[in-house]
Formats: sequence, structure tokens, C-alpha cells
Amino acid sequence: MNPADISYLICTHLDEDHSGNHDLFSNAEFIIQKEHYELARNGHPRLNANRESWDHPSLRYRLIEGDYELLPGIVLLETSGHVPGHQSLLVRLSETGTVLLAADAVMHHSMANAATRQMFVTDMEDEPGIRRGTQKIADLAESENAAFVVYGHDTEQWASLRLSPAFYE
Ligand SMILES: [Zn+2]
Repeated sequence: MNPADISYLICTHLDEDHSGNHDLFSNAEFIIQKEHYELARNGHPRLNANRESWDHPSLRYRLIEGDYELLPGIVLLETSGHVPGHQSLLVRLSETGTVLLAADAVMHHSMANAATRQMFVTDMEDEPGIRRGTQKIADLAESENAAFVVYGHDTEQWASLRLSPAFYE
């Protein structure tokens, strides 16, 4: 599979470790929270590193406001906190069950408890937002009986996950 074969690319946020090479996905629609896209387009310095790649008139963006079912079984979850308009993802898979992709709403399994979790150095100064997003992921993991939550930067967990070209179905 090539980047040009991808139809949808879900942007959790545009920090430099979560964006880049957008121009390679020539047929993709980029799905992003409106709040985050506008923050970035308005020139927020934090989101400058990959601007050349993601801020280009040839790219098709779909701006989402809040939670949104993109396709049957693929639900975007607004989890502002790490940055305004950050989004996570819920995916319902036929064999695996429900998987939550927390991205940087919850970077590591040690941060999964909303009440006690630490803030991270790259979290913007929105502690209530971060705790709200963490709780939202935890509540959904429970109510959806999720198979697992994928954390944004969890080296230990990463070693246990199937990595491309392997996949979950
Ligand atoms: Zn990150």
C-alpha cells in the first residue's frame, strides 16, 4: 500500500511528532478538529515545525466540531487538553472488538487515571481539560468494554502491539 492509496487521514493534532509528509497522501481527506486547525492556521508557534507539509492549499481538510462518527464504527473523540482541539479515536473492529486510540490525551498507561495522573511537559496549560479527556477515554473504555487503549507514547505497550504491515481486524 502506498500513501496515495489512503482515503482518510485522521489528524489527532499537528505537533511535530504527529504530523508531517501530508503532501504524500495525495488522495486523502484530512480529518481534524476545527478548533485545532484554526489554532494552527492562525500561526500558533508550537505548530510551526511541519507547517510546510500540512499547511498547503492542495490538501483537502474536513473540519470536525466535537465527537463525530466518521464512518460506521469509527468515532472521533474530541479530547482537548494536551492542545486545544486534540482528538482521539474509537474503532469498532469485528474480531478484536473496540479499540481506543488515545493519542496524546493519554500518553502512557501510567497516566490513565484522570484524578491522579501527572501533567506532561508538552501539555498546554489546561489541566482541567487533560483530566476531562483522560476521564472520557477511561469512561468509554469501560462502557464500550474496550479490548484495549493505545496510549500516545508508551514504549512498553508499543512492544506488545501489532505493528504495520501486521494489523488488527
Ligand atoms: Zn505526541
